[in-house]
Amino acid sequence: MNTESTDRTRYFTLVEDDRGIGTLTFNTPARPVNILSRAAMEELAVHLDTLSEHSRLKALFIESAKEDIFIAGADIHEIQAAADKQVVIDFVRQGQDIFTRLENLPFPTIAVIDGACLGGGLEMSLSCTYRIATSHPHTRIGLPEVNLGILPGFGGTQRLSPLVGYSKALELIVGAKLLKGAKALKLGLVDACVPRGYLDFKKEEFIQEILAGTLDKKLRANRHGLAWYERLTPVRKIIGMIAKKKILQKTHGHYPAPLAVIEVMEKSFGKPLARGLAVEREAVTGLALTPISKNLIELFFISEELKKETFSTAEAKEIHHSAIVGTGAMGSGIAWALNNRDINVRLKDISNEALGRAIAQVRKIYEEIRKRGRLTEREIALKMDKITFSTGYEGFGMTEFLLEAVNEDIELKQQVYREFETVLKPAAVIASNTSSISISKLAEKLEYPNRFVGMHFFNPVNRMPLVEIISGEKTDEEAIVTVVQLAKQMGKTPIKVKESAGFLVNRILLPYLKEAVTLFESGEDIIKIDKTLMGFGMPMGPLTLVDTVGVDIGAKVAEILHQAYGSRMATSPVLNGMVERGWLGKKSGLGFYNHKKGRLEINTKILSLQSDHITLDEQTIEDRTILIMINEAARCLQEEVVANPRYLDMAMVMGTGFPAFRGGLMRHADTLGPEQVVTTLKRLQVDHGDRFAPCNLLLTMAEQKETFYGG
Ligand code: NAD
Repeated sequence: MNTESTDRTRYFTLVEDDRGIGTLTFNTPARPVNILSRAAMEELAVHLDTLSEHSRLKALFIESAKEDIFIAGADIHEIQAAADKQVVIDFVRQGQDIFTRLENLPFPTIAVIDGACLGGGLEMSLSCTYRIATSHPHTRIGLPEVNLGILPGFGGTQRLSPLVGYSKALELIVGAKLLKGAKALKLGLVDACVPRGYLDFKKEEFIQEILAGTLDKKLRANRHGLAWYERLTPVRKIIGMIAKKKILQKTHGHYPAPLAVIEVMEKSFGKPLARGLAVEREAVTGLALTPISKNLIELFFISEELKKETFSTAEAKEIHHSAIVGTGAMGSGIAWALNNRDINVRLKDISNEALGRAIAQVRKIYEEIRKRGRLTEREIALKMDKITFSTGYEGFGMTEFLLEAVNEDIELKQQVYREFETVLKPAAVIASNTSSISISKLAEKLEYPNRFVGMHFFNPVNRMPLVEIISGEKTDEEAIVTVVQLAKQMGKTPIKVKESAGFLVNRILLPYLKEAVTLFESGEDIIKIDKTLMGFGMPMGPLTLVDTVGVDIGAKVAEILHQAYGSRMATSPVLNGMVERGWLGKKSGLGFYNHKKGRLEINTKILSLQSDHITLDEQTIEDRTILIMINEAARCLQEEVVANPRYLDMAMVMGTGFPAFRGGLMRHADTLGPEQVVTTLKRLQVDHGDRFAPCNLLLTMAEQKETFYGG
């Protein structure tokens, strides 16, 4: 017979059966997920007091009552709010002490991981004697703390390598890798992995073996543990050096957390646990107080907010049958993203060759995924069975959602709309992936313009998470909410923006690219411009980006934005001159750089397009390129192109790779202070012209000493 603890428990329930097998169930009240908040940890500590004196118990299972979640981690709000070193130290020490007490209970403990097991959740599981995971797709196990600018602080850096080995532990923590149950078993991180439906059988098997005293010997043999060579200091130093080199190549030193992981693991290796935990505590405390961590955590909150955002109160339609018209670079990527979520896709292009290329492109993306071990050949084949294609519109009657991605030409697009509107059912939602044409204008010739919406994906579709959702004058709420839900289903982050030339991201990015080109035109060195902005944290220099996107495409977008916004976005004679000469960037071999050389070398011929010999200090290069973006972004907020600065920041981070460690463009403006931004813009306006004139919103904010994020 079961006996339930009579404590007034809120987070945990302790049950013991008549064989002496206990179950501690975590169920955070009034929340869909389990979080190791301070209150939950304090209650866990009380249970541990009772349990440590509970000598009758033979084993204890730790489970979650939440669907698809074991434990999502520590309470990030508490980490972000902490401004005082002692507060962070006390918080971390409390977590470390509690998990050490869990580890020292006088009977075996088993974490039953069925659902997400992240951060503090995994650290708690690592303090258990054994771990059983399920193979359910929601079971993801890992220590993703470095994504928040911190490191695992409740013993994660200490307890992982004895299970999986030093170099694997480093790789998992530094890479913030999340493992499925089967992979976790393969690495020795968990001791069993079973389908959800078999969990009770597996638990019973564990109980029988624990009672018979045979489990420990059997399971420990399966664990990888430290390899003999990982005990050698020079070997670990080399492992650390290689990891550090890789991190620096990727982050250019802007993210201290992964580097701190290497240092903590090396410094604490072979030391008693208490010493190791002290090293870990010291490091995580330092990191948690940095603005980098605060910025990364804020971005995490925004992404969580966006997951719940529907941008409308209308009800979304479920999409099972989709169609893509125009299956080039974008259409094929979008076809993959739909098909990957098991949505039927009908492809239509003008020739079988074009369709063949699209299918080959979808296959290529799947192939990359297969190589990473995420999908098997059979799973890919089953998915691709859901793609059909044709050069005509037969089979379009079933379509519930159609995405148009034909060439950027208004007449062609409207011609295609006339063709498919006759075969589509009136309820089908239609989206265009146009990057520059007005959605309202495109919809003019449609019979049902209310179901027409802009859905601006970024290139390459399989890698870029952002989708701008653009509502035209006549777009109805149902169309918006349907594509918002669909984009989320495709694993993307949709952000609704108001119709405006360049929408949101390209409108803000173009002045930045153009200012870099203007700096070059007046005599600045190409490599210095790019290096300065990479030093700021941009993933690639602006002139390299122009070469990558295509100089002709850049010039075309510049022309469109010039027409829409006038002189502040005047076209660039350099870009036009490059197009005339056929220097289109990477695709033609020559752009700002000479891409034929296989090493970084500028295109020396381009120097003839410079009109002066002015060179500037790096700070001025940064001010001119970054502040012109801040100014345009503030204008977008002023015109309500996007709902708020937080969504704008997320769009810039996801759409352009704006450095996440700075928290986004408007957060960076707050760091500088709007007053400072306005002062510098006014100075640049005097020196370089009215394109730097601060917009009204910035002027008001500077005057009223306000910030974009408030507080
Ligand atoms: P693309 O040239 O690679 O593909 C266009 C495809 O449309 C071609 O396969 C072409 O054969 C097909 N097509 C032309 N007429 C057709 C018709 N009547 N019926 C069916 N198919 C037809 O172009 P892309 O780069 O994929 O761009 C497509 C759209 O996406 C454009 O509106 C573009 O502005 C937008 N976009 C492009 C990017 C990018 O980086 N390439 C990014 C965002 C948005």
